[in-house]
Amino acid sequence: MHTRFDVAIAGTGPAGMLAAAACGAAGLRVACLAPVPHAAWGPVYGVWVDDVADAELAGAMAAVWSRVSVQTHRTEYVQGLYGRVDRARWQAILRDRCEATGVTFLTGRLDRVEHGADGSRVIGPDTDVTARVVVQATGSPEGASLFQVAWGEVIEGDLGQDMRWMEFGDDGSFLYAMPDGERVFVEETSLATRVIDLDGLRDRLHARLAKLGLSGGSVGVERCVIALDAPVPGPDRLVRFGSNAGMVNPSTGYLLARLVEAAPVLAASLAANVEGRVEAAGPAAWNALWPASRRAQRLLHIAGAQVVARLSPSQLKTFFAAFFRLPAGTRRAWLADHLGPVELASAMARMPFLVEV
Ligand SMILES: Cc1cc2nc3c(=O)[nH]c(=O)nc-3n(C[C@H](O)[C@H](O)[C@H](O)COP(=O)(O)OP(=O)(O)OC[C@H]3O[C@@H](n4cnc5c(N)ncnc54)[C@H](O)[C@@H]3O)c2cc1C
Repeated sequence: MHTRFDVAIAGTGPAGMLAAAACGAAGLRVACLAPVPHAAWGPVYGVWVDDVADAELAGAMAAVWSRVSVQTHRTEYVQGLYGRVDRARWQAILRDRCEATGVTFLTGRLDRVEHGADGSRVIGPDTDVTARVVVQATGSPEGASLFQVAWGEVIEGDLGQDMRWMEFGDDGSFLYAMPDGERVFVEETSLATRVIDLDGLRDRLHARLAKLGLSGGSVGVERCVIALDAPVPGPDRLVRFGSNAGMVNPSTGYLLARLVEAAPVLAASLAANVEGRVEAAGPAAWNALWPASRRAQRLLHIAGAQVVARLSPSQLKTFFAAFFRLPAGTRRAWLADHLGPVELASAMARMPFLVEV
């Protein structure tokens, strides 16, 4: 089997593009394929800016807020800069990095992967790409039963200039609002739920806005369903990376900052192993991405999210009021997925409702 590429990456969302840029920087010959390789990313991505471990990407925000409020039983402000990712700039930065290191973009689709003695073939309609290792970053995970669900809209109106990060109502969902000049991106969010009720969230958002004297809009509607407990595939020749690989933080639904950290880890592992036995490179990358501590951490996050999904609206407020009383460093590390399993378990033990698990 002739292998022109060391790595073929399927998917050009954040996971695929970050992986491609990191693999290119690590000196690997990379092919990156998707049905529309440079299609604009869709979601309104938000991040805690300090969690983005890449100065250029951290600097590429469409807006940044230093006053970030949360409302449980009372309103308070949390420390940290929150940013709305400038998606077009992130895409341009990553594309430039890819082009600088010779990454080849191909129009194609992964339908199946066939493994051979010298490498693996990505096969799909009009697609037949061979590489020593294949990374699947195609999003759309299957097998989850717990979701973060949100209905978002861009509206005209004045909600002040603060970022409203988590403003609980009386129904168990919360408002997430990013003001931007005359417009505001507003989203009604169920943090962790087994029920995907987008229409219900839309109606709650409109009722909430009506109380504030604002009306919903039809511009920029975002229907958000994030799988929180998608299964993590085991070690395999096919490497999975991104939302399709159980990498979303089950406590928060966040993924981007984790991908920024994880892409160089993936690339370093592939670079170290790609010249060896082709069967070994995938499992080695899996071990680098999923050491036992990270798997334990994920189980704890899922256990916590399962409890959160069962809480009544009033219990949710109590839970998050306690969360925002945790020491700032602990809280930030929890959100950033930086607490090791021991620290995470001990922080969780300080939270109401979780200790009864
Ligand atoms: C509405 C929404 C809002 C979110 N907001 C945030 C946020 O604010 N902050 C945060 O950190 N996370 C957020 N997330 C979670 C996560 O960051 C996103 O889901 C992110 O887009 C996942 O990136 P990805 O590259 O894994 O998958 P995707 O972005 O889904 O990209 C998948 C890529 O694979 C391609 N593809 C699909 N099928 C194939 C195939 N068969 N062959 C080849 N290519 C294929 C697609 O064309 C696309 O290029 C959000 C998720 C959603 C759904």
